[in-house]
Amino acid sequence: SFGAIADLVRLHAQHTPDHAALSDAIRTLDYRALDALMDRVAASLQRDGLKAGDAIAICASSSVNYAAVFLGALRAGVAVAPLAPGSTPASLARMIEDADARILFSDASAAEVIGPAKEGGIPRVALDGSQVGRNIEEWLAPVGARPEAVEVQPGWAFNIIYSSGTTGEPKGIVQGHGMRWAHVQRGAKYEYGPDTVTLLSTPLYSNTTLVVFFPTLAFGGCVVLMPKFDALGYLQLAQQRRVTHTMLVPVQYQRLMAHPRFDEHDLSSYRHKFSTSAPFGAALKADVLKRWPGGLVEFYGMTEGGGTCILEAHLNPTKLHTVGRPAEGSDIRLIDEEGNELPSGNTEVAGEVVGHSAGMMTGYHRQPAKTREAEWFDATGKRFIRTGDVGRFDADGFLTLFDRKKDMIISGGFNIYPSDLEAVLRGHAAVADVAVVGVPSEQWGETPAAFVVRREGDATSEDELLQWTNAQLGKTQRLARLAFIDELPRSAIGKVLKRELRELAGR
Ligand code: ATP
Ligand code: MG
Repeated sequence: SFGAIADLVRLHAQHTPDHAALSDAIRTLDYRALDALMDRVAASLQRDGLKAGDAIAICASSSVNYAAVFLGALRAGVAVAPLAPGSTPASLARMIEDADARILFSDASAAEVIGPAKEGGIPRVALDGSQVGRNIEEWLAPVGARPEAVEVQPGWAFNIIYSSGTTGEPKGIVQGHGMRWAHVQRGAKYEYGPDTVTLLSTPLYSNTTLVVFFPTLAFGGCVVLMPKFDALGYLQLAQQRRVTHTMLVPVQYQRLMAHPRFDEHDLSSYRHKFSTSAPFGAALKADVLKRWPGGLVEFYGMTEGGGTCILEAHLNPTKLHTVGRPAEGSDIRLIDEEGNELPSGNTEVAGEVVGHSAGMMTGYHRQPAKTREAEWFDATGKRFIRTGDVGRFDADGFLTLFDRKKDMIISGGFNIYPSDLEAVLRGHAAVADVAVVGVPSEQWGETPAAFVVRREGDATSEDELLQWTNAQLGKTQRLARLAFIDELPRSAIGKVLKRELRELAGR
């Protein structure tokens, strides 16, 4: 059976009105207050003429107001396009237009990209009373306002999420209420309940965050929002709030585990920690399992929802180099360059990962050609989404991921996986972080080049490290170049931006 998330919040408001639901650095809302604020948001949207099927955009850092506007819009059947404040102004304008957003909610963190309100632009509402447009308090219908009831359907758009833009322009992906409901049902497995306290320091515009945010509220727990991550601040908040659940991307785990004061903190309240979005090294997973109580669950998937793999790391300590097995309801296969399916049970050959699940996008928003490119059909006509990632199954059905197809290096006719070279480099004590990309070569078409963040205090030279690495690589894999860099360029969600490194190397 289907449940609308806004209805579940109402249910908790009736049963546990005084229980904390949402909290940020400034304030906490209990379920009664959250439910009332959602009503005011829904009523205000209806007053402004928005109906079920319309959309709003939110471009802001995480806050209680952000979350309440998101949830209130859902109650009115209005879809939300959560946008990254780190986008370029042009990209943001394109997304707002693409989503056909009727109102833009923003805050100080977005002031720079959005700029002043333009003549003829869409109405703006400031979530933090900071800038152009109407202040949220002015915009909101009076306390006690009730919206007209809307019966939300599973097929309706819940949100339009833009893919991370790691490989190019972000693509709009419409996710339905039914898909979010599927995430909530999956959540039952991870012991969400009224005593859940979920700490979220990744942004609300990413599916990464939302796959944990909505289940927490649907089960009557409390979400603590941390708008800007820093390792020590996270640890202090975790201990103080007795956090039970969290979602962190691998680079955040890396910073936390490397923090000199990590072990001083009492993290015994944790039940489940989640991760997704980017490669999570096996050694780092092992370190988390060893020093941080509670389960560690890695998801592999994409916003498009083509199918998910799950690694319950605490239950599969010998499989940490994998992203786990297909989740229930996910059908994941591998295809070759020509689009032919690799025989199942093949543990020798890697192929592009394609996935099918009940929660798949119907297509990219307003981009039929891109949608067709992303689709793959098996012999029976079953529809899959192409991930663009290369992987291989082992004999137990666990998926090992290599690289994105776009990041693979073809050198003199050989395929080189940057992840293989990165793994070798990680074995050197001087290497704190590393990314390998292909750079143009007259002789080979492309050759690998490495960018290395050197560990503090280490004196190894670029040349020494290059020699050391190449001594361990086959002739066809050898690095043409190696350069130290202060920090790898990453997206706000912690993905290494290899296209920027390729540009840097091309100069
Ligand atoms: P774009 O499609 O705009 O280039 P993106 O693919 O990064 O951006 P998302 O949908 O946020 O956008 O991310 C999905 C991708 O993230 C996957 O295709 C995969 O490359 C990577 N990914 C997700 N989970 C994992 C994981 N557990 N381990 C390694 N990589 C992962
Ligand atoms: Mg993608």
